[in-house]
Amino acid sequence: MTILHRYQNPAYTGSNRCVPCTITNVAIAALGSLAVAAVAPPLGAVAFLGALLTIYLRGYLVPGTPAFTRRYFPDWLLAVFDKADPTPSSADVEEMLVAAGVLHDEATDLVLDPRFATAWAERMADIDTERDGLSDADADRLDAVELAALTDLDADALDIQRYGDAVVANLDAERIGRWESRAAFVADVAAARELDDWVPRWRSIPLAARSELLGALRLFLERCPACDAALTLDHEVVRSCCRDRDVIAMSCSGCGSRLLEADFDVSVLEGEADAMASPVETH
Ligand SMILES: [Zn+2]
Repeated sequence: MTILHRYQNPAYTGSNRCVPCTITNVAIAALGSLAVAAVAPPLGAVAFLGALLTIYLRGYLVPGTPAFTRRYFPDWLLAVFDKADPTPSSADVEEMLVAAGVLHDEATDLVLDPRFATAWAERMADIDTERDGLSDADADRLDAVELAALTDLDADALDIQRYGDAVVANLDAERIGRWESRAAFVADVAAARELDDWVPRWRSIPLAARSELLGALRLFLERCPACDAALTLDHEVVRSCCRDRDVIAMSCSGCGSRLLEADFDVSVLEGEADAMASPVETH
C-alpha cells in the first residue's frame, strides 16, 4: 500500500477528495467498462478495476470532471456533499476575548488591545527570526515542533506540509489544521503563544474552538505577518473543485499572502447597492 501511496495525488485524494467528482468518475468508469464488457467481458472487468485504481490514486479518471460536475450536478445535490461544519458562535469567541482584555468593545466597534497588538507583532517577528537561514524542510520541522508544543500533541506524529500557498498540519496522516498561507500560520502560532498569557485556562479550551478563536483574531491584523504590507479585505467568488463559493478574503497588498478566507452568505447583502464595500461580520 505504501508503494501505491507514492503515486497518489494529494491535491485530489485523501481529505482533498471531492465526493461528487469521485461519484461522477466511478459512474463514467462503470458505463465505459460495460461498453467494453459487451464486446469482451474479461476486458470489461479489467478496464473497470484499472479505472477504479486510477480514481483512487489520482482522484479522478476524466480530466476536467470538476467542470462537468459543476455544470450537471444541481446545487441541492452538491449541498448534500458539503461537510456539516458546526462552528462555535462568534458571539462566544468575542465574549471570551473581551473578557480576557484582548479585545475592547468601543462604541460600535471591537478593537484590539494595543498591548496585545504589540506583543503579537513582536512574537510574529520572533518566529521569522528563528527561521532565518533555515531550509523550507527545517522550517517546517520547527513549525511542527512549535505547533505540537502549543497543542499538547506529539511532535513526532505531527507533520507540516505545504500545498501551493496553503499550510496543512497532519497528525498520523489525519488533517488537523489548514492555513491559507504561511503568513496565516505564523499569525496563529504567535497569537497562541501570547493568548496563553491572556486567556485563563487557554489550553483547556478544545482545539477546534481555539483555532476558531485564532481565525477570528486574524481579522484584526492590519499588516502582513510575512512582509509588513497593508492588508485588504475583499468579497470574492472562489472556485473550489466543482462548485463556487462566496467568500470574504483578507490578503496582503504586498506579497499576496491570503490571511483569511471565510464562507460568506451573500443573501445578507441582497438589496444593498454597495455590497463590496460593506464591513465584515465574523459570522
Ligand atoms: Zn505580505
